[in-house]
Amino acid sequence: MTKQSYAVIGLGRFGLSIASKLFEAGQEVMGIDIDEERIDDGKLTLTHAVVLDSTEEESLKSIGIRNFDYVIVAIGNDMQASILTALLLKDMGVKKVIAKALNKRHGQVLTKVGADWVIHPERDMGERVAHQLLSPNVLNYIELSSEYNIEEIMIPPGITSKNLRELDLRAKYNLTAIAVVNNENIIISPSPDQILQEGDKLVVLGNRENINQFANIK
Ligand code: ADP
Repeated sequence: MTKQSYAVIGLGRFGLSIASKLFEAGQEVMGIDIDEERIDDGKLTLTHAVVLDSTEEESLKSIGIRNFDYVIVAIGNDMQASILTALLLKDMGVKKVIAKALNKRHGQVLTKVGADWVIHPERDMGERVAHQLLSPNVLNYIELSSEYNIEEIMIPPGITSKNLRELDLRAKYNLTAIAVVNNENIIISPSPDQILQEGDKLVVLGNRENINQFANIK
């Protein structure tokens, strides 16, 4: 994986979890916070960490913020600081600005000031929890559009020991099998002869309702 540079502004729970994961993955990560205590935290291990107020243009310039590949605005409750920071970053020519929104309106303003990717962590997590409760066999999913998903499904017990041809996912549910996950092995583009064992997971692409129907076969 090529090394990219990231600056994470706001080292609360959200910002710190992003920064730590990126650092663990071998990326160059600068942590930024207005609060000295957050930066002095002995457990903080990042490439660099600096105390500064991200609403001050000169401070951002002094660390060469525009040279980072990605800047993540993970400021918590101070909506004004978050919006002003995103605006400054885009004005200064930062290529990719990712910003956390507290609510829908905040998200809309962040988009208006030019944020490239706006994240709604609480709303998105809530939706994921509801999805998981409604379809316990679904382990993971990606929304491709309002209708289509890619979902990783725990194979319903009734259909184990069948192969994909017998399952006939395309004709019965209009679904495409993308992969079969068997312990740690991933079989991409599985052949029609691929047998599904108990405990395997199937990754399918298709209409959400059809996936739901398949995932809930008794
Ligand atoms: P979380 O819900 O992710 O834990 P917090 O509100 O605890 O959110 O964390 C947000 C962080 O953002 C805090 O550490 C705070 O000091 C930092 N922060 C707030 N305003 C600024 C700013 N203007 N510049 C830099 N960091 C800021």
